[in-house]
Amino acid sequence: MSLQQIISDRLQHLYDQIGAACRRAGRDPDTVQLMAVSKTHPAEAMAAAYAAGIRIFGENRVQEFQQKSSDLKAFGINIAGTRKDGGDQAEVHLIGHLQSNKAARAVEVFSAVDTVDSLRIAQRLNEAAARLHRQVPILLEIKLSEEPTKTGLLPHSRELADLLERLPAMDHLTLHGLMTVAPLDGNPDTARRCFRNLRQLRDAWAAQYPQLDFSQLSMGMSGDFEIAIEEGSTMVRIGSAIFGQRQGPVKLSA
Ligand SMILES: *Cc1c(COP(=O)(O)O)cnc(C)c1O
Repeated sequence: MSLQQIISDRLQHLYDQIGAACRRAGRDPDTVQLMAVSKTHPAEAMAAAYAAGIRIFGENRVQEFQQKSSDLKAFGINIAGTRKDGGDQAEVHLIGHLQSNKAARAVEVFSAVDTVDSLRIAQRLNEAAARLHRQVPILLEIKLSEEPTKTGLLPHSRELADLLERLPAMDHLTLHGLMTVAPLDGNPDTARRCFRNLRQLRDAWAAQYPQLDFSQLSMGMSGDFEIAIEEGSTMVRIGSAIFGQRQGPVKLSA
């Protein structure tokens, strides 16, 4: 079976599962977007997913994607937001932690940054976007678990409150909502609590900051996306269920 066939079969299966989760939750499947998380996989795999209809990708490293983006061009795929020449386009979102010294490069290569996790990184992105005359869509990453390795803004922190106050004045960033990563302990109840918590925070902040858009909730991965959909996710981030197991940080080229 070709890579194209394998990926398109897996996507069909995923759409069935997403549809079933939406029915359980009484939701319209059109309200849930599927992001294909292509980190560690070559541009060839992204092109196969693209041919099967995927238009939103997630990558977690600036440098890794910078290399892949020129390979994507060779497949005739342009990255939305980063070029003026139109044509066939896909959105590629950054879904990994961003260091402030890479903010400028992130604005050059990504359509959106879904992991804004500090006031400082928001300021850096806004400055970089201004220099490139870009409007960058962002999500705030919220840390809802105790795991020390997780990044994200603490929901009741002063820093988050500051950021929400200042975002309306950051002219080159457009907030669209929140994202989180549930604890990866394999316990569906912990995941559900985490997703529900994010939705409740969203509802509270949307009421408190009516000038900001909180419509997107990016939550749910291969192991927990059905629970996330039941709890209100508007974007599930699926890697291994589409592209297979990741080999780790191997060197990649198409
Ligand atoms: C890798 C990754 C995913 C996808 O994980 P899978 O378990 O392979 O679906 C989703 N979100 C983030 C932030 C990731 O880093």
